[in-house]
Amino acid sequence: MEDLRSFNLEELSSIVEEFGEKKFRAKQLYEWIHKKRVATFEEMTNISKGLKEKLMANYFFAPLKPLQVLTSKIDGTQKYLFRLYDGNVIEAVLMKYKYGNSVCISTQVGCRMGCRFCASTIDGRTRNLTPGEMLAEVYTIEHITKERVSHIVLMGAGEPMDNFDYVVRFLDMITNDQGMNLSGRNITVSTCGLVPKIKELADLKLQVTLAISLHASNDETRKELMPIANKYSIAQVLEACDYYFQTTGRRISFEYSLVKDVNDTKEGAKELASLLKGRNCHVNLIPVNPIEEKDFKQPTWDNIYRFKEVLEKHHINVTIRREMGRDINGSCGQLRKNYLEEGGQETFDK
Ligand code: SAH
Repeated sequence: MEDLRSFNLEELSSIVEEFGEKKFRAKQLYEWIHKKRVATFEEMTNISKGLKEKLMANYFFAPLKPLQVLTSKIDGTQKYLFRLYDGNVIEAVLMKYKYGNSVCISTQVGCRMGCRFCASTIDGRTRNLTPGEMLAEVYTIEHITKERVSHIVLMGAGEPMDNFDYVVRFLDMITNDQGMNLSGRNITVSTCGLVPKIKELADLKLQVTLAISLHASNDETRKELMPIANKYSIAQVLEACDYYFQTTGRRISFEYSLVKDVNDTKEGAKELASLLKGRNCHVNLIPVNPIEEKDFKQPTWDNIYRFKEVLEKHHINVTIRREMGRDINGSCGQLRKNYLEEGGQETFDK
C-alpha cells in the first residue's frame, strides 16, 4: 500500500476522480493531510464515508514512531530516532536558533556515497525515503514540540541527489501554499556533489540553497575522503555550482569538515581560497566529528582559526559551524547506529 502523504495535489486529484468523486475533494484531502496534519481518515469531517472507505482500502498513512528523543541541556537541540512503518530506523535533529527552528532531516535509510568520516554510510543504503516520510519527519517534530519549524536542511543521513525525484517532490510539497507553505529560501539541500543532478536541480529554479560538501581543496585529498571525487572532479563540481548560481541567483554554501593532518593545512586554506575566488559563496567550516569506526581527528582550535583567517584574508565569507547539542552526541548517524547495534527492535507490524 502507498502512503497517502506522498501524493501531490495533482495526483490526489486523479485518485479521487478515479473513485468517481469531484476534483475539489482532492484539495480538501490535501489540506487535511498537509495543513491540518491529521493521520486518520476519521478526523476528515467534510469527506464522505464512501470516499474514505475507498481510500482506506487502497492507501494508508505510514506511521513514523518516535523511539528516542534526546534534548540538549546546553542549547535545546533535540535528536530524534524514528521507526518507519517497515521497521527501518532514521534520525532527524531539531535546532533552535534566534531566527527560528531548523529541522535537519534524513533523505535515505543509510547512504551509499561512502564518505570516510561519516557514520551513516558504513552499512550502505537500505532504501530511499518517500516524500511522505520526509514530510512526516517535519510534521512529527512540529506535533511533538508544538513549535513551528521555519527552516529545513537536508543534511541528515542520505544523499538527497541520489533520491532526486522524491526529494524534489518533497520540496514541492513542503513549499506548497495548500500545505506547510515554507519558503524555498528557508530550505538547504546538501550534496556530496552529483554533478548532473545539481544541474537538473538548478533547472527547476526552486530557490532552495545548495550546500556542497567539498571537504578538500584538491582532487587528490578529496579522493582520500570521498569516493564521489573519483567520479567528478572539483572543477566539474564548481562548474555545476556556477550554473546553479547563474540559473537561480542563489549563493552557494560550501561545507568543509576539517580533519587533522588531512585537509587543515595553511596551504590547503590558500588553495581553497584560490579555488573559490570571485565566486559568490559562503564556506562553513565544520571541525570533524570523530566517529568510533574511523580514526579521523579534529584539528586543534589554533589550526581551525588559522584556516579561517587565511580564507578571510582572501575575502571569502567563512564561518565555523557551532556545534549543537554537544551533550547529546551521537554525531551524524551515530544515534541510529548505536540503537541498531544494541539490538533495537527491527520489525514493526503495520
Ligand atoms: N549526503 C549529503 C548530506 C548529508 S551529510 C552531503 O554529503 O552533503 C551532511 C554533512 O555532514 C556533509 O557535509 C557531510 O560531509 C558532513 N559529515 C558527515 N559526517 C561527518 C562527521 N563525522 N563530521 C563532520 N561532518 C560530517
